[in-house]
Amino acid sequence: MIPIHQRQDTIAQVFQKRFGRLPQFWCRAPGRVDLMGSHTDYNLGAVLTLPIGRDTWIAARANHTRTVNLHSLNLNADASFSLDSSNKNAGQSWIDYVHGVAEALHEEGMLLEGFDGVIHSTVPLCSGLSSSAALECAAATVFETLGGWNLAPLQKALLCQRAENRYVGVNCGILDQFTSCMGREGCALILDCRDLSSKAVAIADGIGIVICDTKSKRELAGSEYGERRTQCEDGARMLGASALREVTLPQFEARAHELPAIVAKRCRFILEEHARVYALADALTTGDRAAIRELTAASFEGAANLYEIAAPAMHAMMTAMLAARGVIGARQAGAGFGGCMVAFVEEPMVDAFSADVRTRYASATGIEPEIYQVTAAAGAGMI
Ligand code: ADP
Ligand code: MG
Repeated sequence: MIPIHQRQDTIAQVFQKRFGRLPQFWCRAPGRVDLMGSHTDYNLGAVLTLPIGRDTWIAARANHTRTVNLHSLNLNADASFSLDSSNKNAGQSWIDYVHGVAEALHEEGMLLEGFDGVIHSTVPLCSGLSSSAALECAAATVFETLGGWNLAPLQKALLCQRAENRYVGVNCGILDQFTSCMGREGCALILDCRDLSSKAVAIADGIGIVICDTKSKRELAGSEYGERRTQCEDGARMLGASALREVTLPQFEARAHELPAIVAKRCRFILEEHARVYALADALTTGDRAAIRELTAASFEGAANLYEIAAPAMHAMMTAMLAARGVIGARQAGAGFGGCMVAFVEEPMVDAFSADVRTRYASATGIEPEIYQVTAAAGAGMI
């Protein structure tokens, strides 16, 4: 990781060069990784989620106009939009994530001011760690600071989700924005997507959390994601429920034969995965290694065979992670189809684990993975 001051200096220099002055203030919002609960969020189930130290920063300065001018260091790209026009081409460009936040805030009656900004993220883009939500939540915090009003973190999360749903055109659940806004330093959260309540989960000392990025592009993620959502909605309807969350496993078992086979597989995964969220939270708190291993293995097996979201690179990574020194358990992360995975590792063994995974995965796939430990970071705010 880049030291904070070096990161700040680099961003400030780019800001000075691009806008001729130094930034006035800085906002940040974290990425996140799901420790358990793939695809449970839009089924109104639970997710065990961790806000991570990888985050998105926006260095900003009021420009006293109605225009927002942005430079993304990650993409080495500039873009602007007017606060007085709605986005006619939503879903085409990275700026839509920020423009969408402005539109959602405006709709809510918030006073908006133009600014110049430089964006820099240490969340890998498009890898399942929610760089999109980190960008939205950091942008909402910039607008909040400039406007002089205050949003409750949950309201901010909901508006950022609305921005992505309505103004970017991605039908995501609340998980990413919730975690990025509501994160607390030092603990994971169980988010209950039915009532948006959450509970802090302590992780036993000695258990490290390591992200293993397959560096494999998530090409099918968009269309497959929509298809899974529809299949779950169909399943819920056929079972007479408004969402899969309202169905218990015994109720499902009794009627599974009535469902088309593929819908039944999808439903089974969601219901089992939801139950694993609470079980893994307990196992992480008590440090029950055997349970962590079992639950994460079952989660990946379900992701591969029932929900069918495991790309070949993910199988290769799973093999590498499970063979590495110090591993406790490992599974997919994000929506699947490539991207990042997550491992629980004996803390003193994290370096050995990382070295082993790197060697094995690279020799199996020819792809150099990225591997790093993460810890729980605070939610969106000013730096
Ligand atoms: P994820 O949220 O898992 O990283 P998404 O596909 O949901 O993947 O969002 C990634 C998109 O968000 C990028 O393609 C880009 O449009 C936008 N984005 C995220 N972070 C940045 C950034 N730092 N600079 C510019 N665009 C960004
Ligand atoms: Mg995203």
